[in-house]
Formats: sequence, structure tokens, C-alpha cells
Amino acid sequence: MWRSALPVLALLCGGIAVHGENGEPFAAFLAALRVDAEKQGITRTTFDTAFVGITLDPSVLAAMRHAPEYGKPFGPYLASLASPSRIGVGLRKSAQWAATLRAVEQKYGVEATILVSIWGVESSFGDGEQHWDVFRSIATLAYARFQQPLFRDELLAALRILQQGRVPRSEFLGSYAGAMGQPQFLPSSYLKYAVDFDGDGEADIWRSVPDVLASIANYLRQSGWQPHLPWGFEVTVPQGFDYRASRGSFAEWTKRSVRRADGGALPDGASAILFFPSGTAGPAFLLTDNFVALKRFNNSDAYALSVAALADRLRGLPAFRAAWPTDDFQPSRAERTALQYRLAALGYKLADFDGHFDFELRDMVRDLQRRYGMIPDGYPGRAFLNRVGVRVP
Ligand code: CA
Repeated sequence: MWRSALPVLALLCGGIAVHGENGEPFAAFLAALRVDAEKQGITRTTFDTAFVGITLDPSVLAAMRHAPEYGKPFGPYLASLASPSRIGVGLRKSAQWAATLRAVEQKYGVEATILVSIWGVESSFGDGEQHWDVFRSIATLAYARFQQPLFRDELLAALRILQQGRVPRSEFLGSYAGAMGQPQFLPSSYLKYAVDFDGDGEADIWRSVPDVLASIANYLRQSGWQPHLPWGFEVTVPQGFDYRASRGSFAEWTKRSVRRADGGALPDGASAILFFPSGTAGPAFLLTDNFVALKRFNNSDAYALSVAALADRLRGLPAFRAAWPTDDFQPSRAERTALQYRLAALGYKLADFDGHFDFELRDMVRDLQRRYGMIPDGYPGRAFLNRVGVRVP
């Protein structure tokens, strides 16, 4: 769950292999880090064990630059994450680990299909071994001030794991972005959420499937996951629907003639957000707080919807019914950040300018769309972005 690329990277690509943003040599970066680490109780021995022989890794930045996350059309993204082969393997893994999944579900209240789905999306069920050295990857990103201060903090978290003796130095392997093991936890997530579930005393998210599944469940539970609450449903809206409505209880949505696409009844007693990922031309969804919990795992609507779609298929539910627009536009990371600054300039209150959209932001988009005489569906498409002053090619 690394958080994806910031536009600042584009500024850094040039001389990055040699110097950080302010021309600081890597040795000076490490020396300053050592001072901060010591203040947090990291011993000299731990620090040296972590960083002996560590150099910058330019390939980390190159890989980060090509990381896909934003700006991709929803339909193909979803189809690639919830692919037929992944559904097939997911069903086999669900059967193979049925007893463990039942025990994890019992303890944490997160459905097995959601756990298997995240496991599959994050690491193809632990199939793809990752050989990047976590300290080297994260040090490279921190040195480049990539998403500052996130990766510097992650480096300190990795040092704490090492000092606690929870993971031997040689086993700190992960993705190019420092995401570790089968659930792809950054070090701070490992500290907060990794648990031992097979009873050997170690939270081994690299090799132990019970530990992997329980750690994912613990992460979601601590991120607000509510047992027995569905993530949401694909829905249809009636002719003449008042698009200004974006929130309400399921009972209120039923009253507004919003219906489940599969014809089933909406549940009682929860509230849901109406979401048009690609505007009114594409599918519509009612999303509960559990969808928001999925976004805490990886802060992307496309990611969370893909996890939800795969989990549905593992439960035997059909694929989403409505077609995605063939010309689906999704804003790039730079366009997302530009929109956030534009909204703030227009007087809206935003918490972050990191390019991640929440549903509060989509309500701001709705508000502006209404003022501009556009359909207030909360979708920041090309026409809206150009209208609000974010130039889109
Ligand atoms: Ca264990």
C-alpha cells in the first residue's frame, strides 16, 4: 500500500541518482537520519546493521515513475485486477485456506472474500516474490524527498522493527516502493497491524498465510471495518433523478427509487454514498463506510472498487452490469492535485493536496457542477476540469 506518485517526482528525475533535492550527499542524509533515529531510541548497532553497504538505487525512482495508479480508465483497471484468472486462483485459495479464513473472520469480523481479494490484488496470493531491499528502496525515496516526510518516517519505522528483533535484516524484502510481504505493508503498517496467527510468535507476512490473512483483517478492522456491513452495491438511478443527492440511508435511497443493479433489496440501517466513478455515462454505486475502510488500505477509488468487485466474484455474484464508457477519462495525479488547489482557492475546505480524492471532494465538485449548470454527479471529467480552470489536454 504505498501511496502513489506525486508530481514532485517529475522535478527530481534529473540528477536524482547523485544528489537529493538540496544537493545533499547521501552520506549526509544518513548522518542526519542517524541523529533522528538515536533520538527515537534506535541504537548505533541497529542503524549500522540496517545501512551497511547501502547505496542509492536509481531503479527505484525509475519504477516509481512508471507506477500506474491514476489517470487510467476505470473499466480496464478493474478488469486487470479482478481478472478471470485471479478469480479462479482466488476460489482455489479460498477453498484451500477455508478453515483459517473462518477463524480470521470470526476474530476480526472481516469477510473471507474481502481478505482473499486483497491478498490477490496486493501480491497475487504471494506468488510474485519481491527482492527489493526495503531499507535501500525506502532510503532512496526518502533521500529524493519523495512524498516527504512519508518515506523518511517509514525508514524510522523499519529501524524500529529491526531493533525489536521482529524481522531479521536479511528478510527485509519488498516492492520497489518498500511495501513488504504478501499484504504489501509499509513498515509503519507492519508495526501497527501485523499479527501472528499461526501461533509461532512471529508476525511473518512474507511466508505465513495465516499471518498474512489475519494481518490484512486486523488492518481493516482497525481502519473502521464493520462486520456484516456490505461494501456497497452497483445501483441504477431512475429517470429524472435529482443528482444533487449524494448521501443518505439505504431506506432514503430506496425512497428515491435507486435500485440495486442485480434486483436485490437494499439493506436496512446503514448509510451510503452515491458514486459515479465515470459520471452518469458509466456505472453507479452506493458505498458504505466499509468501502471507505478499503480506501484506508490503499487510498484509491479504483483500487477499492477492484477489491470489492473481486470479492463479489469470489462470493459467486455476477460482474458489474453497466458498461464503462469507452472514452472514460480519469484525471492524472497532477490534474488531481491541481483541482485540489483550485477548490481551495475557490474557498472550499480541503484537508490534503496529495491528489487523493475523498467523497467530501466529490461533493464539492457536485456543488460547482450545480453552479455551472452541469449534471452534479461529482465526477471531475474533462469538461468540468476545464470549466473550473484546471487545464486538461
Ligand atoms: Ca506466525
